[in-house]
Amino acid sequence: LFITFEGGEGAGKSTQIRRLADLLRGKGHDVVVTREPGGSPGAEAVRHVLLSGAAEPLGPRMEALLFAAARSDHVEQVIRPAVERGAIVLCDRFLDSSRVYQGATGDLDPAFVSVLERIVVNGMMPDLTLILDLDPVEGLRRAGERRGVEAAADRFEKETVAIHARRREAFLDIAMREPDRCVLINAGGTEDEVADRIKASVERLLSD
Ligand code: C5P
Repeated sequence: LFITFEGGEGAGKSTQIRRLADLLRGKGHDVVVTREPGGSPGAEAVRHVLLSGAAEPLGPRMEALLFAAARSDHVEQVIRPAVERGAIVLCDRFLDSSRVYQGATGDLDPAFVSVLERIVVNGMMPDLTLILDLDPVEGLRRAGERRGVEAAADRFEKETVAIHARRREAFLDIAMREPDRCVLINAGGTEDEVADRIKASVERLLSD
């Protein structure tokens, strides 16, 4: 089984993945926890290039192609072999992050993103995608980016909340369009509350 976690910054994806992994391992499942960009040695090297901030901005196409290269390696080296041996793979971000960050709210034609997606996912679609949905102001607060919340006097600060709000809308749109794959998880409230919501969705999948 292949389960992906999506959502904006501060939604709690990595915390919740850890908790779900513990829960599933406790029940005796073989669980593989991985993340994007990265997840395989080659893809982690590309992650470094993508997130460390090159001297010159990479440009949207190059960036999307690097995300795609990393994903292709990650799918073929890690995800597919694990799923084929019967493991449950929990992945922090996957194709929907590309649709949202590079496509819907980025600088690229969503059609370009969609072509890359088909090539690199190569049939390895998630069985379940949990979209952790959170008010962007709360997400920014949790992420410790307080400058985005307090006295939104300056333009940059307002844009920070605005871009997070646009990404949230884009994730909601995906959830609406693909209800068979995607479940929207209210990421508000306590860690335990969110974990319970996730547990309910995953138990439903496991009982199918
Ligand atoms: O939040 P996380 O630790 O997953 O950080 C990865 C960052 O990489 C995100 O904040 C996002 O800005 C970026 N990203 C992206 N496009 C993707 C995946 C991640 O821009 N497809």
